[in-house]
Amino acid sequence: MTTTLDLELNPKEAAAARFDMAAKKLNLDEGLMKVLRTPNREITVYIPVAMDNGKLEVFTGYRVQHSIARGPAKGGIRYAPDVTLDEVRALAAWMTWKCAVVNIPFGGAKGGVICDPHKMSSGELERMTRRYTAELVEFIGPEKDVPAPDVNTNEQIMAWMMDTYSMHVRQTVTAVVTGKPINIGGSRGRREATGRGVMIVCDEAIQKLGLSRESTRVIVQGFGNVGSNAAILMHEAGYKVIGIIEVDGSLYNKNGIDVKALAEYRAKNKTMQKFPGAEAADPAELLVTDCDILIPAATENQITSKNADRVKCKILAEGANGPTTAVADDILADKNVFVIPDILANAGGVTTSYFEWVQDRQGYFWKESVVNEQLGDIMKTAFRDVVQYAETHRVNNRIASYMLAIDRVAYTIRQRGIYA
Ligand code: GLU
Repeated sequence: MTTTLDLELNPKEAAAARFDMAAKKLNLDEGLMKVLRTPNREITVYIPVAMDNGKLEVFTGYRVQHSIARGPAKGGIRYAPDVTLDEVRALAAWMTWKCAVVNIPFGGAKGGVICDPHKMSSGELERMTRRYTAELVEFIGPEKDVPAPDVNTNEQIMAWMMDTYSMHVRQTVTAVVTGKPINIGGSRGRREATGRGVMIVCDEAIQKLGLSRESTRVIVQGFGNVGSNAAILMHEAGYKVIGIIEVDGSLYNKNGIDVKALAEYRAKNKTMQKFPGAEAADPAELLVTDCDILIPAATENQITSKNADRVKCKILAEGANGPTTAVADDILADKNVFVIPDILANAGGVTTSYFEWVQDRQGYFWKESVVNEQLGDIMKTAFRDVVQYAETHRVNNRIASYMLAIDRVAYTIRQRGIYA
């Protein structure tokens, strides 16, 4: 039986709830609403892999291309045991809205493979990645659909994807994926970009709320690519990072954690536990501990009807995709939390992916300072667009970001017309 909580936690429902509300407020034509609600294409592939123990395993993989209205489909690929088609669908739609919020010329897509990458060897991961790419070869490409890293995928996996695609088309095509190592067409600044984007929108938000970096206490959930880079950059910029929540142990220090030292400690010890500069904390409690900025940068469904009323931050900056459920949105709105929604807060990653794609196609690579400056411009403009939209239309930031994005995509579709 499907319970109310199951529905609340289904990412497809979460995306649909926000979409419906924003589309209604925009008075969007019903037919166009149908078009925008439905993906362009959904691909399921079965990936046979020779495992190290000599046996054959078959993995299931997806690629959902939600929209190609504003440009090639764009979005990451995640490897996780709990990947579902519904989740990939929601994430693909979120990519369309995200690219539109920051106004870059891409549609939206997402991919996922059901597997437990932590239990696989590097060889097994490589074989799985290459076969997955080979199965998708006619559906991806610099002008069609450009994958990137997401949960549990990284630069090495992108390198294998780029190589496999290139072997099939008999020439090196660096622009087929982004988030690659710098040596083979990656962009300077891409690794830190999502975390940097989170900091840029936090800078804008504290300015709006009249806070200073030094007086702003931050709690970060997740110490993966997004969380660790956001925490390190914000610590270096003067913010007081008082809590880090991670699966292998959570840390709290009301006077601020030296995040750089923590990152070094973790790299050396492969765990954050027993880090001398902070005390151990309960992860669920830390998420609702008093702070100024809370950055959920792990996975979906972290702030729900079960804990939203206890959240004590002034600003919620969503580093992850879908960390807050639609039901929790209303609770946070009642509490006057300033929400920087995922499709804005974590758009620094795909924005720098856009720069990577441009550089690959130009064959000319920018200095890191140029990348960061351009990223700053785009993120600040998007932040101001969303906040202004919210104020003009008297809606919260989440709905404003959806309205802005849907409006941009709908405008493009109207202009292009429907081919029939
Ligand atoms: N996976 C990231 C996201 O969810 C990056 C996508 C990209 O760079 O294409 O935004």
